[in-house]
Amino acid sequence: MITVLAGGVGAAKFLQGLAAIRPPNEIHVIVNTGDDAQFHGLYVCPDIDTILYTLAGLGDPERGWGICNDTFHCQEALRRLGEAAWFQLGDQDLATHLYRTRLLREGANLAEATEALRQQMSRRVHHPLPHLIPMTNDPAPTRVRTSAEWLSFQEYFVKLRQEPEVLEVDLSSAARLQNGPAPGVIESILTADAVVVAPSNPLISIGPILAVPGVREALRTTRARIGAISPIIGGKALKGPADRMMASLGFGSTAAAVAELYRDFVDVFVMDQQDAALRPEVESKGMQAIVTQTVMTSAGSKEQLARTMLGALRDDLR
Ligand code: GDP
Repeated sequence: MITVLAGGVGAAKFLQGLAAIRPPNEIHVIVNTGDDAQFHGLYVCPDIDTILYTLAGLGDPERGWGICNDTFHCQEALRRLGEAAWFQLGDQDLATHLYRTRLLREGANLAEATEALRQQMSRRVHHPLPHLIPMTNDPAPTRVRTSAEWLSFQEYFVKLRQEPEVLEVDLSSAARLQNGPAPGVIESILTADAVVVAPSNPLISIGPILAVPGVREALRTTRARIGAISPIIGGKALKGPADRMMASLGFGSTAAAVAELYRDFVDVFVMDQQDAALRPEVESKGMQAIVTQTVMTSAGSKEQLARTMLGALRDDLR
């Protein structure tokens, strides 16, 4: 079994490669829910949905969110009613949120609602999707303090387009959960043959998962070898604010700075060819450094990255 810690877009691309080389039912994905929010009374889980849509081949690779060729008639109608409509919700995407919200209102927890969506989506595309486990069933909203004010995650990320400088990230909701991690989170780390931290934003996608009680401890104690892939390439994020956030929060925006954040549990750190010069710095943290092509632009490059990562963790998984 392979367990992956995941945010949205970068993780979804890596998981496509992984699911192409390993049986999907052997893959468990622990997903960040710090970005989750309610809009128009509906419960929206951006990272879970990006992963589901991408693995089902329904996602929009250009935008990185929502369903390809979706329409926005409902959104337009809401706007005409005077509703705030800065968070874009396509018509087919809305069906996902309606379905999830109904299940939650009827008493399902988030893990059960996610599993129901995974099964429906698998049926629709005629192939099984990997298991998705939300990091927790409890609400765990991430908040960010910007140069202007404290904001909810989606106000910062979508409404203000990540423009304000981030001065603080508040993960206290993830750290103080009523019911702790979702069932399966800790077990899937402790019993895995290999664990991978996907190329996702270390502060706002992986950070919330690491803040969930017991997760970091499980990563430190599992017998599985753990690998991480740098989302920072040549000092830059391919998309999103990871590089600017790493800098404004004082970590520095390099692949080596990402390795430092995972220093206490990662065995193998995979970084891009452009960062070959950082190899000694990463190795000095007690990790094996692998320098390879990490930009995933095609099915082949996704598979190759998954193969390199697994091979470095366990020869028989390659
Ligand atoms: P979000 O929640 O949708 O913003 O997505 P993620 O948490 O998955 O993270 C976005 C991060 O993924 C950015 O820092 C990107 O640099 C990184 N990323 C996206 N695509 C790739 C890729 O092909 N290769 C690598 N190495 N990183 C990527």
